Amino acid sequence: MLGILGGTFDPIHYGHLRPALEVCEALGLEQLRLTPLKDPPHRGAPHCTPEQRLALVQAAAAAEPRFVVDDRELRRAGKSYTLLTLESLRAELGPDTPICVLLGADAFAEFDTWHRPEAVLRQAHVVVMTRPGAAPPPLHPDRYVTEPAALGRRAGGCIWFHDVTPLDISATAIRRGLRAGRSPRFLLPEPVLDLIRQQGLYPA
Ligand code: ATP
Repeated sequence: MLGILGGTFDPIHYGHLRPALEVCEALGLEQLRLTPLKDPPHRGAPHCTPEQRLALVQAAAAAEPRFVVDDRELRRAGKSYTLLTLESLRAELGPDTPICVLLGADAFAEFDTWHRPEAVLRQAHVVVMTRPGAAPPPLHPDRYVTEPAALGRRAGGCIWFHDVTPLDISATAIRRGLRAGRSPRFLLPEPVLDLIRQQGLYPA
């Protein structure tokens, strides 16, 4: 079973990494793909370039062997639609491997505004990670499963809510802090902070 966590990762932080690892371990995922989005459909342009954000994700993922950086969204022209990523993963993995799309409760609240959400659910499961301040709406309740083992029995189509360690960390707050001259140390991995400093990202 494979997981995928897409994000702007502007920058990547422990609020992405720790919940993703907890889901990985709870569901027994062999691999979790961290997928930076080039052109996120639901928000303004990211502050750092795709290459810079990719480098930050690589620096963050290096410490965890189950985390694999997947740059396919950066290599594709056009909007970063999860469905297109899943179709390209399916072409590699075949129809039977379960794939879990991980997202935070705030992102799940917007799930029905995604490009063809029903088609996303045909290609993969959705795993909703709790996030402080975000109450997930009851979308697609007919898809909910009550035990995570159900995800391993089908290639996709189920929704599972996973309680993760609540970490009230956001990239927005980190960027705001950096611009105000405050250190984001202990909110993100040290190698990510080193890169931010070396490359002068998010200047004051
Ligand atoms: P920004 O503040 O710039 O909007 P962000 O911190 O929300 O960024 P994203 O890259 O937009 O980070 O998030 C990628 C995915 O990770 C989304 O599905 C989001 O819900 C989830 N996520 C981000 N931070 C957390 C967190 N602290 N706890 C749980 N999930 C999170």
